[in-house]
Amino acid sequence: MASRRDDCLFCKLYADGEHVASTKGFVAIKDINPAAPVHLLVIPERHVESFREIGEFSNSETHRMLVFIADTARNAGLEDYKVQVNVGTSAGQTVFHLHWHILGRKHIHGEALPDTTAVTEL
Ligand code: AMP
Ligand code: ZN
Repeated sequence: MASRRDDCLFCKLYADGEHVASTKGFVAIKDINPAAPVHLLVIPERHVESFREIGEFSNSETHRMLVFIADTARNAGLEDYKVQVNVGTSAGQTVFHLHWHILGRKHIHGEALPDTTAVTEL
């Protein structure tokens, strides 16, 4: 099993949080302070501080993580969206356990819902 840090918020949320999606080794949660109508975070079970340590994941883990990000976005109703990783404090990283932001808005019949429609349910 990947190392769990007792003092790490995202290790705790991986173990005990409310997950909107999960697969072996990876979960998705809603961002507590959404910056878009849909704002999800994909968190790996494996604790690494940042994207700088991406090499600690095996090739197959990395592949499954990226596919999980795409599947989670699709299942959240997103067609066009951003995937963002903040690396380091001055780039905006505040939680030092690697995580991927998925930011977008749902589409219905090809039309993006307006910004004012805060839809975060899957
Ligand atoms: P970053 O600034 O890239 O490190 O992203 C950390 C993200 O975690 C921010 O967008 C926060 O809003 C979010 N966040 C912090 N605490 C929680 C929490 N308890 N549950 C869900 N999201 C959180
Ligand atoms: Zn952690």
